[in-house]
Amino acid sequence: MNPKIIDSHMHSNYSPDADPKATFEAYIEKAKRLGIMSLVFTDHVDFDSPADIFTEMIDYDVYVKHLNEVKKTSNVELLLGVEMGYQPHLHQRIDEFLSTYPFDFVLLSMHIGDGLDFYNGDFFKGKTQVEAYQRYFEIVLDSVRNYQNYDVYGHIDYIIRYGGYENRRYLYDTHKETIHAILKEIIKHGKGIEINTSGLRYGLGLVHPYLELLKDYKALGGKIVTFGSDAHFVKDYYAGFNESIELLKDAGFEYVTVYRNRKPEFIKI
Ligand SMILES: [Zn+2]
Ligand SMILES: [Zn+2]
Repeated sequence: MNPKIIDSHMHSNYSPDADPKATFEAYIEKAKRLGIMSLVFTDHVDFDSPADIFTEMIDYDVYVKHLNEVKKTSNVELLLGVEMGYQPHLHQRIDEFLSTYPFDFVLLSMHIGDGLDFYNGDFFKGKTQVEAYQRYFEIVLDSVRNYQNYDVYGHIDYIIRYGGYENRRYLYDTHKETIHAILKEIIKHGKGIEINTSGLRYGLGLVHPYLELLKDYKALGGKIVTFGSDAHFVKDYYAGFNESIELLKDAGFEYVTVYRNRKPEFIKI
């Protein structure tokens, strides 16, 4: 593995849903063992979340100070990222937050749709599976049309993690038109998407997104793809990256992207 390839989606124990043992130091140790040169922490910031677990926000004054402390003795490069939870009424609040700290990387994620939580199932109530998935993609489309202060869109077909369906997969063709519109917006604004390997651990047996989606993204002119394990435990950091490289190659890509100072850098895979 190229040591410059970064896991661009990982949660430390500052995220309320992460393992208390997932400290900066524990990840640094693992990165060193794997021979990886850099780490970017993308902890959760979900303003105005209906989920109880996210009501207490990370204090970023404390967070950044702590990260800077750890940087002094770390021989692994430490970058400041964030997984920013999107909701349409939060543009100003997110902008203010992002301009307060020197972020290297902003991953924008849709965890709440129409004010309803995906995780606890509220979003799915009163909808068929196809309706729920389609509504999710429409909400994502609205977000990428209306908001651009991010670098990469997180787990773009994330909705399939939830809803409790026996068969959680979606028929790509059913949502293709909306997905294409999403991808075109992302490309037009110079943003990217991620290969998120958490699907391998959530019983989906595959990474996000589907190969068809990646191929279409490429065909539409997409160039920026990051890899992310979405680790909430140190054991999951960098998990599934061999699969990610294969998938990216299958889709016709030759480079994976990493961000520093919110600028993309392309690393040969
Ligand atoms: Zn997420
Ligand atoms: Zn995440």
